[in-house]
Amino acid sequence: MGKIVAIANQKGGVGKTTTAMNLAASLAILEFKTLVIDADPQANTTSGLGQDPKEIDNSIYECMVDGVEISSIIRHTEIENLDLVPSHIDLVGAEVEMINLENREEKMRSVVSKIKDDYDFVIIDCSPSLGLITINALTAANSVIIPVQCEYFALEGLGKLLNTIKIIQTRLNIDLEIEGILLTMYDVRLRLSNQVVDEVKMHFKNMVFNTIIPRNVRLGESPSFGLPVIAFDAEGKGAVAYLNLANEIAERNGLVKVN
Ligand code: ADP
Ligand code: MG
Repeated sequence: MGKIVAIANQKGGVGKTTTAMNLAASLAILEFKTLVIDADPQANTTSGLGQDPKEIDNSIYECMVDGVEISSIIRHTEIENLDLVPSHIDLVGAEVEMINLENREEKMRSVVSKIKDDYDFVIIDCSPSLGLITINALTAANSVIIPVQCEYFALEGLGKLLNTIKIIQTRLNIDLEIEGILLTMYDVRLRLSNQVVDEVKMHFKNMVFNTIIPRNVRLGESPSFGLPVIAFDAEGKGAVAYLNLANEIAERNGLVKVN
């Protein structure tokens, strides 16, 4: 049975998309069948995995609102075992159009339930908001990964996100777990980076992944190649970190496949 993992933080630029793309690619390299759902109208995961958002007609939005079959819009990527449900800018309109629908928070869950058993992991890249699409993603998910950037104000907004998760656990998705808090863009030379790591670990203890994602030029470049970093710099620090994260998650879920 596929595990559905949402990558969420309403703050922009913390590494959600980088994590969705590169974690998913690493899980695929470990031979887990993996699907990434791009649930952000900015479609960065879609272009990051080599698809042109301008040529996308249907996204998760049309599945949720118009009843388009999700299986008909899944695309294979350059990476074996890695598929994508693309996004495009119309997803912005979904929030408004869905307001009057019945069970509007549960649309994504029922769409994803149709294909989740075809995969070992379904990774949902959320937009930088706590709007209806993100609520849908958290309602559909088994767990959530929260990327936190090793920067000033790292913890800003985290209280609100955790509160939203609690409300969803109470009302919509009693089984939603926090898979982990992921420290991203860590720079060993910066005192600030180290302070953030200490502070987050002090607050959140074993909720924090052992794997820390370093700041790495190749990770920043990967969207411009339309490829996850493991496809062109497999030995680099960024690729190794995301492979470690994939192994850590596989291990936590009792699916050990260390390469
Ligand atoms: P979000 O999806 O949360 O908005 P992104 O993953 O798009 O964040 O990351 C924001 C920017 O930082 C992007 O330009 C991305 O390429 C870059 N970036 C993300 N993680 C790293 C990293 N570990 N090292 C270097 N650059 C990174
Ligand atoms: Mg993003």
